[in-house]
Amino acid sequence: MSQELCPVCCASSDFYFEEAGRIFHTCPACSLVFQTTDTLPASEEEKARYELHQNDDTDEGYVRWLTSFINSSVIPWYKQGSVLDFGSGPQAVLTDLLRDRDYPVYSYDPYFSDRWPEEGEPFSLILMCEVLEHVNDPAEVFRRLFSVSAEGAVISLKTAFLPSSGQVGDFKGWWYRQDITHIRFYNPQSLKVLGENSGWKLIRQDGKSLAVYEKSSPHKGAL
Ligand SMILES: [Zn+2]
Repeated sequence: MSQELCPVCCASSDFYFEEAGRIFHTCPACSLVFQTTDTLPASEEEKARYELHQNDDTDEGYVRWLTSFINSSVIPWYKQGSVLDFGSGPQAVLTDLLRDRDYPVYSYDPYFSDRWPEEGEPFSLILMCEVLEHVNDPAEVFRRLFSVSAEGAVISLKTAFLPSSGQVGDFKGWWYRQDITHIRFYNPQSLKVLGENSGWKLIRQDGKSLAVYEKSSPHKGAL
């Protein structure tokens, strides 16, 4: 069994679960559960799966779901300045909904809109709605977000938290891990450590799926 390092905190990980060619490890230091590098889906396979999502602004259920994210995770945290919709997906529907509400929002997605927004003012609010579970190197992304964000900036995100029991059986039966593009699974502890390692302080989490970070100042992380 290869020794794979945790993508959040670099500790040596332990085998956790295997199914249909997917191998998951768990980190004894920060509790992250992650799919091992050699069993990750090819990027073409991943892109095809995203395109299958077919979520657009004519899908009322999807718009309602995003509106609830706006209510829980955008409105309470927006003060002023630019917003970044990170991992905006093939249609960038969240970006459109926020523009309709007059938020100055930019979108970025490594597959569908991979040009980083033009040099401009640093972002004050960064949104990651169901993105973090797809990200291969979350610490690198958080450090990058640190470098393009304003002082006092906030990251507000949604990703389903690991079953709280920590039992393999509960992970096995968990629908969220069955999507082949979901490769990183967090609990409040791994989210906290992710922030600490990249210049962000976890200031709020709801125990289920929502987390909020504030930019630490001065930055003591490894930039
Ligand atoms: Zn870890």
